[in-house]
Amino acid sequence: MSVALQSTMTLGNHFATELPELAVPWQAAEFPDARLLVLNEPLAAELGLDPASLRSPAGVGLLTGNLLPDGATPVAQAYAGHQFGGYSPRLGDGRALLLGEVVDAHGALRDIHLKGSGVTPFARGGDGLAAVGPMLREYVVSEAMHALGIPTTRALAVTATGQDVYRETVLPGAVLTRVASSHLRVGSFQYAAATGDVNLLRRLAAHAIDRHYPHLADAENPSLALLQAVTDAQASLIAQWMLVGFVHGVMNTDNMTISGETIDYGPCAFMDAFDPASVYSSIDLGGRYAFGAQPLVGEWNLARLAEALLPTLDDDTEQAISLAQDVLGMYRDQYNAAWFAGMLVKLGLAEGLDDEVTTRLCTDVIELLQVSRVDYTGFFRRLSAVARGDASEVRALFADPGPFDIWAERWLSLSPDPDAMDAVNPVYIPRNHLVEEALAAATEGDLAPFEQLVAVVTDPYTPRPGLERYADPAPDTFGPYRTFCGT
Ligand code: AMP
Ligand code: MG
Repeated sequence: MSVALQSTMTLGNHFATELPELAVPWQAAEFPDARLLVLNEPLAAELGLDPASLRSPAGVGLLTGNLLPDGATPVAQAYAGHQFGGYSPRLGDGRALLLGEVVDAHGALRDIHLKGSGVTPFARGGDGLAAVGPMLREYVVSEAMHALGIPTTRALAVTATGQDVYRETVLPGAVLTRVASSHLRVGSFQYAAATGDVNLLRRLAAHAIDRHYPHLADAENPSLALLQAVTDAQASLIAQWMLVGFVHGVMNTDNMTISGETIDYGPCAFMDAFDPASVYSSIDLGGRYAFGAQPLVGEWNLARLAEALLPTLDDDTEQAISLAQDVLGMYRDQYNAAWFAGMLVKLGLAEGLDDEVTTRLCTDVIELLQVSRVDYTGFFRRLSAVARGDASEVRALFADPGPFDIWAERWLSLSPDPDAMDAVNPVYIPRNHLVEEALAAATEGDLAPFEQLVAVVTDPYTPRPGLERYADPAPDTFGPYRTFCGT
């Protein structure tokens, strides 16, 4: 018998009590037939939650927001946002709830949040629900990102609601229990700014600093320091996406965090063949959020954050704009520095080599991959073999390996370290065709392929016999890939 978690845990409500203007108290829909599909046991342990208890009926009640500890105040969060460039003054959690905060094993505050928990006052005509497939998709992709060392929200559990969800077809419903260092977004600041209440904006900034950048509390201009910190964090995050071939797919300002964690896995995908124009989202017709566009979209979103923060940066608007521009003006250099540093590590090169030589090597290798549309992940992983003296597998990736050979000669002259490369270039990523295969099986009730995929991608650097197909790009028969968001 496990003790009901509710009697032993507390859910904090810092957000709800400190920022009531951004929090609408709300309850999850009732899911009497809920059934746990997957539980992230290592994450549960990190949060101080007993996995066995979470699997009990009371635990499932907690994971779906149906049975909360005394004193919990679940809320739907209000935020605004630019979606595909167009401003929506009131988005908010239409199908999500912040249950509250817990203190994790490291002493940090973590949000426990639900997605697919029923309509809220922000639903705008939506049904407030989510389907099993897309919630499992967020689970596997976010856990893969975490295993790759990329800041991200985490997935604690996916629970089937036992209720139908109506999309193009009738689908089984699910709730994702998500964990994040917070759910503050650029859109939270846009919403606060739009109220015209500068005091609210200041309290939101103070709350964000307290949660994510406590060392900035005593800064001379805390709002400016916050803008700087978010700019740093996002430059670094987006560089990491670019280094691993990740396409977020819907980089609206409501999907960009203040913490620097990746959030909201909708129409996201890992690129197979290298192409900066890669777009996987069915609704991104103009390619606004294409792979190669992400660094500049990041900058655009940060400019929206800066605009929202303006009244708190300086009483004099001209001066506030000038301060914001100085910070934003550093983003491109920060992004480039993060990307080049990461690319050097992927190439197994030491620090301190001639900058001009290594910079050209990095840009040239990207051009090679683009011209020949080489499988991005496969290339970098196999490249270490070249440093060990066997170029055959990598050369086979190119129709004409001639230009690669010339590049490789320049690269090898810098003595790359193949072991260092293998520690950062993954063998396994959640490849689109494998994700689709696992989700299709799960939707039919067979979770085995999903569980196997999670096991593979959460240990991405160690090649294991028998898992060869997880390292291969999609077969030609898979065709062009499209994903759907808001599902
Ligand atoms: P997303 O693109 O998933 O970040 O969602 C954008 C906005 O649409 C957010 O305000 C969501 O809460 C809302 N939303 C998405 N799907 C639904 C749904 N099925 N029901 C209600 N609101 C939704
Ligand atoms: Mg969102």
